[in-house]
Amino acid sequence: MTKTFSPPTIDTAARAALTRRPRRLRRTEGIRALVRETVVRAEDLIYPLFVVPNERPRVEIKSMPGVYQNRVREAVDEARRAFDAGVRAVLLFGLPDYKDGIGSASWDPTGPVQSAIEAIKRVLPDMTVMAAVCHCEYTDHGHCGVIVDHNGVKDVDNDQTLPLLAKQAVSFAAAGADFVAPSDMMDGRVAAIRRALDGRDMPEVGIMAYSAKFASGFYGPFREAAESAPQFGDRRSYQMDPANIREAIREMELDVDEGADMIMVKPALSYLDVIRAARERFELPVAAYNVSGEYSMVKAAAERGWIDGPRVMGEILTSIKRAGADLIITYHAVEFAEKML
Ligand SMILES: [Zn+2]
Repeated sequence: MTKTFSPPTIDTAARAALTRRPRRLRRTEGIRALVRETVVRAEDLIYPLFVVPNERPRVEIKSMPGVYQNRVREAVDEARRAFDAGVRAVLLFGLPDYKDGIGSASWDPTGPVQSAIEAIKRVLPDMTVMAAVCHCEYTDHGHCGVIVDHNGVKDVDNDQTLPLLAKQAVSFAAAGADFVAPSDMMDGRVAAIRRALDGRDMPEVGIMAYSAKFASGFYGPFREAAESAPQFGDRRSYQMDPANIREAIREMELDVDEGADMIMVKPALSYLDVIRAARERFELPVAAYNVSGEYSMVKAAAERGWIDGPRVMGEILTSIKRAGADLIITYHAVEFAEKML
């Protein structure tokens, strides 16, 4: 039952004294749009795509509604859909035909990523094509590099992994990638890849470094998508401790010194302070990866009707940009861009 009430009397003296009224700038949508400080553009977004060999079926990833494992032709269709919506960059991940201890399928010139790079560039020459460089999708043990046994303790060997990363990066660049994006967190990988690209006469190919990549629980759904879950142990001996921001800055500094063209913070949402620190500290473009778990949480809650999915998506992407990211890698890219058309 609602009760009727008479409006409270206005204190006229207090009203005369209230001269600063921020609500004036929020009164209409027109005014709000005029004073909006942060706007996410379709061009700020990078759309990740998972590419599988052509013999496999196209499969939707259960934990990531709307995200698929694509064959090459479907990756091209997805890229075209993104381009038509105004998205100007894709980031490719590959699932190979076979896996082994060193991820040798990753530098097969006919591999899914190499084929997708060529096909997308052929159909959409103005699309910026980036390829993620890492071994976890290509190794039978699911780790990001070569495994060695130190007195019974297995770990990824840094220096043995570097030449393999360089080989993979060169292979993607030779297929036509505009950027390679090392995500392994080995020390010295940016310098190793830069040297290898320059040595093969590909100085124009850029490096977007996953500089501050944290060992995060938010990667869960990605491992289903990329079939890259480690078969033993975890990635804490190479990915960063979520507690450390000074170490993140040091990692970014090293990548800048080694020749990275863009630096990245991953994940984004729980690391907005790291994105802000990156923005304040470095002049290079800063990318942030709005990762699979961040995407899946929005989708799952929206499916249950607990949140307004598109609204939360917009709020999340805006917060990442407001924190200082120039570029946002996000599975929401096409949905967000299409909504703005
Ligand atoms: Zn990896």
